[in-house]
Amino acid sequence: MCIFCKIINKEIPSHLFYEDERVVAFLDIKPVNPGHALVVPKTHYESLEDISDEDLMAVARAVKKVGQLIKDKLDVVGYNASVNNGSVAGQEVPHLHVHLIPRHAGDGHTPWSRGAYASGEAEEIIKKLIS
Ligand code: AMP
Ligand code: ZN
Repeated sequence: MCIFCKIINKEIPSHLFYEDERVVAFLDIKPVNPGHALVVPKTHYESLEDISDEDLMAVARAVKKVGQLIKDKLDVVGYNASVNNGSVAGQEVPHLHVHLIPRHAGDGHTPWSRGAYASGEAEEIIKKLIS
């Protein structure tokens, strides 16, 4: 059983602060910033390709609620909501989860380096995506 399933089954402790029929949220044990939360479906799915539409909708609703909680209760004005979908994307726990990371001006956590498309590259990508 994966570590998040154990948390959901209350077999190991966590700082759980939100629960509904389909979803839980608890604090990430290694926060990027204090209040960093994980929103997790109770059913074990590895990735966004696997999750049922019903559970995905429940996760989306919980992300909205937990994000609002973080803003209202932790004096946070913005946050990043992200999924590391697949090990190449940095996924370490193989149970789908959404990170909600409180952000503060000047906290230094600039998430992405950005590039530029070469001539024609964006058009090639669009061709593949719509074919
Ligand atoms: P990811 O890299 O997207 O799979 O993220 C997994 C996250 O789970 C990491 O940010 C870890 O710090 C967090 N994590 C791992 N074990 C625990 C745990 N027992 N309780 C809370 N968070 C955990
Ligand atoms: Zn699991």
